[in-house]
Amino acid sequence: MPTPSVHSLETPSTWIRAGTKIVATIGPASEDKLVAMIRAGMSVARINFSHGTAAEHARRVAAVRAASEACQTPIGILADIQGPKLRLGKLAAGPRALFAGQRVRLIEASSSSDPDVIPFYFHGFRGAMRVGHRVLLADAAVELVAERLDGDAVVAVVAREGEIADRRGVHLPDSLLSSDLPTQQDREHIQLARELGIDLLGVSFVSRSEEMDRIRELIPGVGLIAKIERKAALENLTSILRASEGVMVARGDLGVEISLEQLPLVQKHIIQEALREGRYAITATEMLESMVENSRPTRAEVTDVANAVLDGTDAVMLSAETAVGRHPVEAVEAMTRIARAAESSQRYSELRGAAFRQNEPTFSNATAMAASHAAEALGVKKIIVFTESGNTVRLLSRYRVTADIVALTPSRATLHAMTVLSHVRPMSFERVLSLEEMLHEAQEELLERGLVQNGEEVIFVAGVPAGVSRSTNMMKLHRIGEATRMH
Ligand code: PGA
Ligand code: MN
Repeated sequence: MPTPSVHSLETPSTWIRAGTKIVATIGPASEDKLVAMIRAGMSVARINFSHGTAAEHARRVAAVRAASEACQTPIGILADIQGPKLRLGKLAAGPRALFAGQRVRLIEASSSSDPDVIPFYFHGFRGAMRVGHRVLLADAAVELVAERLDGDAVVAVVAREGEIADRRGVHLPDSLLSSDLPTQQDREHIQLARELGIDLLGVSFVSRSEEMDRIRELIPGVGLIAKIERKAALENLTSILRASEGVMVARGDLGVEISLEQLPLVQKHIIQEALREGRYAITATEMLESMVENSRPTRAEVTDVANAVLDGTDAVMLSAETAVGRHPVEAVEAMTRIARAAESSQRYSELRGAAFRQNEPTFSNATAMAASHAAEALGVKKIIVFTESGNTVRLLSRYRVTADIVALTPSRATLHAMTVLSHVRPMSFERVLSLEEMLHEAQEELLERGLVQNGEEVIFVAGVPAGVSRSTNMMKLHRIGEATRMH
């Protein structure tokens, strides 16, 4: 029997899927397949500013907005800035092989043609290096160990041999290199992100919360995602979470900074801490890597995506699979199917119990908690939330209730920023003045769209007075079709 198409399972077909969200990186392989990817379950389009030109980014943003419009589905746009990524300079004589036991000189330079010299194209490494520190090149394929400090240079011996090429990444996991985030390039990219009106900003190589604070000043009103890919970020995770809306488990670079076998446990830790702090988590990198070439994922990849969902991630991400891969639509479809299967398990429902987190003594969180309990007790299918900032929706989302969270907002920025939240279906809604009007209008609109049925029990979550940010303080149990009068 043929597998049923993903699209036919959606009701209505254009409405964003409510479970675990799918972030897909847009590149040459996907910019003309966006409608199919949205139909397959993509809810956030990621544009990596580390690759491509400003004109390409602008073209891709426009293409995503057009596809979102065509599908009548809000799609978030996440732009990633590169941060202080350490890179090699130019190897003027071309790629070169390094052999075990070979001694090389590491210097600060933009280029070198000497076969025994490796140019590091960033500042300050010499002062941070000590004898015995590791130097990882080309995603840790090659490892050097500092043997001697010699003036402006570091003499290192090759411990793991391999090939290096121009501009490849450098990691100094043992050295306390002070990094300047945002870099000049980041500032230019943030300016571009503002001009393009992107919804979410991914910040690479964060190490401290102050860096997120500095970025926020440059781009107010945009959701900030701290990419956890440095050892220092793991050490400062709580304060970084508090300075951000969400985090990315950036397994690519993180897997270089810590040993690979620690990744599965570190992933669980980051996701758990994010949920505890009322922040969201995106799990990223190599999730369906073999689909860059193949039309079907491997058993190990399917298991990895399912496990990330069971860890409690809000979203799973595709990188090369959709940016440059041969099967971008199939990759999104595969993720949708894997997520759906994992979400229907008994084990997934246990996340809910673990999630009744009471650490945040605010009206918003208490209302979210109460609504989640009531939704489970009544078995309702929809919690309908009115939101200005999306804050309460984020708090509700982490309870991973069975019901869909229909998040109504008059703010375009909030609408798009909420697309990354698990279980949330963002919808735009005109601002009305009174609570009664709000309930009435929402009921009419959802009925009209066929999203609720007459007689269906739902839960409304709102703030009174209406239209004020961070004022969530009430929940109403409601039967659709009954009067929305409150007195
Ligand atoms: P990148 O970040 O794809 O921008 O490197 C993700 C990661 O490092 O995993
Ligand atoms: Mn990275």
